[in-house]
Parts: sequence; C-alpha cells; structure tokens
Amino acid sequence: MDVYGVSATTERGEYFRNNVWWWRPLWNYCVELAPELCGNVDGDTNGGDGLAAEGADDLSVILFNELASGRTAEYEQKYNETIANLPRHACKYCGGTGTRTDEVGQDMGMSKRELSPEIQIITGRTHGWCNACNGEGKQDSWEASYPFSAENVREFAEFLADCGGFQIC
Ligand SMILES: [Zn+2]
Repeated sequence: MDVYGVSATTERGEYFRNNVWWWRPLWNYCVELAPELCGNVDGDTNGGDGLAAEGADDLSVILFNELASGRTAEYEQKYNETIANLPRHACKYCGGTGTRTDEVGQDMGMSKRELSPEIQIITGRTHGWCNACNGEGKQDSWEASYPFSAENVREFAEFLADCGGFQIC
C-alpha cells in the first residue's frame, strides 16, 4: 500500500510504503488503538481513503505515546508469540508427505532429491522433496505472513507527524 501525504511539511511526510503483508497488521493496530479516529477509514483497499491533517496528527501523537510507554513493544512480542504458536497445516502440494509426486513433482524429479540436513533431522527421511514445504510436509498458517514491529509503527508515526493528512492509494 502506498500512503501519500496530502500537505507534507517535510520529505518524511510525503510518502509511506508498506507492502500489503506489513500494512494490514499496522492498520489493524491503529484501528484497535484509536477506533473513533480510524474505524471509519477504509484501510483495506487502495481507494484513496485516509485522514485529514488533524486526524493524522492525533494518530501520530497516540502512536508515539504507545511507543514511549513500551506498550507497542509488548504488543509486538505478544503478536509474535501468537504467530509462533499457530498450528501448522499439512502441505497441500504433497498431501503432507513431504514428497511431491504430482505432475510437477515428477517432472522435476522431486522424489529423488536429497533433503537438506536440517529437514533430514526433522523428518527422518533423506530423500523426497517438495518445493512448497521444502520436504517437511507442513506449512505455516497464512497469518504468519503478516508481520508486525514497533519499528514499523515508529516509521508510520513519523510520517503521520509531517504528512498534513494522508490518502491510502
Ligand atoms: Zn509439500
């Protein structure tokens, strides 16, 4: 997602970019902290919605307060713990076996391919690979693709302080 400053006072306030994986958790965090401010903003699409100067400023102050209090770092820690504890699911490309035997797997000779030493330890097999799960037979939950960090919150708060209002495009 590209977030543009409407009336930036510094270079820092002109533009903020998070790819969609980073943007979602960051914006969810903003909505959670300041529902009355962010709850009505369409943050899930790039349709140009956003906040006017005053709202962006208020959100910046709220985020900086949270950062300074240490609560953002705590949130990051809990967030990462939750993700680390999510159940992993069976890889659909190899049916959870770790060896891909469909047409693609056959064409690429995956069943004969030797596994990396770490995967050999985990699986107890030496050969038979899958390009989707690296031979492990399991994949991370999709939620694990959405990272969150206090550092990213700080970058956004700095942008907000100088953007003079923003639009999500
Ligand atoms: Zn697999």
